[in-house]
Parts: sequence; structure tokens; C-alpha cells
Amino acid sequence: MAGFYKAEYIWIDGTEPTAKLRSKTKIVPEGQAPPIWGFDGSSTNQAPGSNSDCVLQPVFVCPDPIRGGKHKLVLNEVLLTDMTPHKSNTRAACAETAKKYASFDMWFGIEQEYTFFEGSKPLGWPDNGFPAPQGPYYCGVGADEVFGREIVEAHTDACLAAGLAIAGTNGEVMPGQWEFQIGPIGPPAIGDHMWVARWLLYRIAEDFGVNATLDPKPVRGDWNGAGAHTNFSTKQMRASYEPCVEAAKALGTKAKLHIENYGHGIEGRLTGQHETASYKTFSYGVSDRGASVRIPWQVARDKKGYIEDRRPNANMDPYVVARLITDTVCSAASAKGGSKASTNGASKAKIPAKKKVAAKRR
Ligand code: ADP
Ligand code: MN
Ligand code: MN
Ligand code: MN
Repeated sequence: MAGFYKAEYIWIDGTEPTAKLRSKTKIVPEGQAPPIWGFDGSSTNQAPGSNSDCVLQPVFVCPDPIRGGKHKLVLNEVLLTDMTPHKSNTRAACAETAKKYASFDMWFGIEQEYTFFEGSKPLGWPDNGFPAPQGPYYCGVGADEVFGREIVEAHTDACLAAGLAIAGTNGEVMPGQWEFQIGPIGPPAIGDHMWVARWLLYRIAEDFGVNATLDPKPVRGDWNGAGAHTNFSTKQMRASYEPCVEAAKALGTKAKLHIENYGHGIEGRLTGQHETASYKTFSYGVSDRGASVRIPWQVARDKKGYIEDRRPNANMDPYVVARLITDTVCSAASAKGGSKASTNGASKAKIPAKKKVAAKRR
């Protein structure tokens, strides 16, 4: 009895300034891997009507926690019909950079903040006026402070069932706003898991009649925006402190490039208020939630670990952010001689690692 499974093909479209997720269903014979497929790019801002075919190339397949059973979610990258990456395909460049700097064994942990909306207002907000000011909502409990927990629980369970690297969730500072974390995992997997987790969030909220948005500043005024703090580490950072500080400094040398690629509307969120540093300046500091880049206190104490880039917007593309951070941090470390990390401390024993890093510099 040859059966079939439903493969939900997910891809990132060409909408500007912020791309959207799309998906459609393919019925695939059991035992067969999800094949290459296609779609009408003229309906997704990815092609002109006169030459509309775009290609879906599966890159990440996981169990479908919505349909359950044998059904699958299939994340794709978009190719042109000559099988080269479409210009909306940011994964291809991320994968290339990840490969170039594979010896650094980069890990990412992204904190995805988002806001539930019911109609035109955030979930739980009164029809007229505003809720009580911010203060009690972050990690709050109780029906007067928490809105949408049943959706968050369903989303977390779905991420786990899909095998995504979800690390935790919390209620945020603005009522109706939440966060989940993915990681730590390497590039480009961090982007694959994040995009599928986002798709699951929209899809599950849909069943509750609620819309989840990554709008970086969903309510103007004295309400927190939504970010995507990006924590990261190289092998060297996980072993000693100096590479953590060097990584923060390296980010400072390319601050403008990073800001320009950290999500549309970043100037509206990085105002210097609401636990942000202004987009016009760059700073880093231990435990400083008002800095662009934070070195967590445990990292300063343990003299090793990871750092947090607090600038990315909630609506950032994780492939772009992971590529830029990898490139900026690893190229600076390579230029310093790669040797620096390995000559530091008790490290005669690390000669093979040193050779490997040096080899990557070419
Ligand atoms: P915050 O205190 O900023 O709210 P969170 O607990 O929300 O921090 O998020 C921290 C993130 O850092 C998690 O996603 C976690 O997986 C990630 N993380 C922990 N260790 C590392 C590491 N060595 N490299 C990269 N990311 C890491
Ligand atoms: Mn967090
Ligand atoms: Mn947060
Ligand atoms: Mn954070």
C-alpha cells in the first residue's frame, strides 16, 4: 500500500523592504525525499510575469508538528532556472561564508522577539486607550499581565516536535510581546531553524485567530520595540576572554555596514532608549543593556564564552546577520594572525588548531 505524505514547502519571498514567508503543499510518495519544485515568482516579487518560473531547492527537512505523523516541513532556497541563487536567496552567501570560516566553529543563539496582534491592536490591549505602563509584564504571571501564553506553549511544543534548537521563551516588557530563543547552532543552520520557527509561529497563531508580527516598533511611544539579540561565539571565544573582546571591537569597525543590514526600520528602534544604544554610535560593555554589544557578566567572570550583539531588529534576516557577524569577526581574527588565539595561554598543544586557522586565511 503505497502511501503519500504531505510536504509543506516553505520559502522566503522577494518582498521589500522585509521578505515574507510563503508555503504550499506537495503530495510526495512515501519513501521519496522531497524533490526540487517550482513556483510562480511573479506573485512573490521574485520574477516578472513574462519569465515567472523560480525553483525551490530543499535545504532543510523536519517532521511537520502541525499535521503530525509522516508529514514534513521542507524549507527551500530559491534558485533561478539555471540553478544559480536568486537575488532574494540570502542563504547561499551565508553558507559560503560559513564554509570559508568553518575552522572557527561559529555558534549563534538568536533571541526572537515578536508581538501578537488581534485586529489592529496588540493582544490583550483595551479597545480604547492603553494598558497600564510597562513594568510588570516582563516574565509576568497572571491574567492581567500575560496575553497569549497558550499560543506560546503550542509554538514551543511544535518547535520541539520539529526538532528545532529552541532554547527557551519568555514574556516581554510590552504586554502582548514575547520572545523565543534558537541556538546555539552554527550557520547556516541557525537561519534554517529560525525561519522554520517563524513559520510555525505564524501558522499556529493563525489557528487562534491571532497574528504574530516581527515589526520592530509595533507601538509608537513609551513601549519597547522588538529585537533579535544575536549571541555568538567562535571556538576561540569559548576558550578564552581576549577573543571575546576582540570580537566586540571588530564589530565596531564595521558598525555602519551591520546597522544597514540588521532589519528595516532599525533607526526607529535603536533610539538610545528602551534598553537600546543609538544606531548612530557603537559601544560595548560588560552587563550593559544600553550598549550595542553586551558581554554577559558570567563571560567576564569565567573569562570565556560568547557575546551579544543587541542591535538586530526582530525583522532581521538571520542568514544575513549570521553571515555578516561571521565575516567581520573571523576575518579580523584571521588578520590578527589566528596565531594570537592559539599562542595565548597554555597552548603549545594547540599547534594543529593554529595550522588550521592559518590555512583558512588564504
Ligand atoms: P538574555 O539574558 O539576553 O535575555 P537569553 O537567555 O534570552 O539571554 O539568550 C541567550 C542566548 O545565547 C540563548 O539563545 C543561548 O542559546 C545563546 N548562547 C549561549 N551560549 C552561547 C554560545 N557559547 N555561543 C552562542 N550563543 C550562545
Ligand atoms: Mn532574552
Ligand atoms: Mn528580550
Ligand atoms: Mn538579550
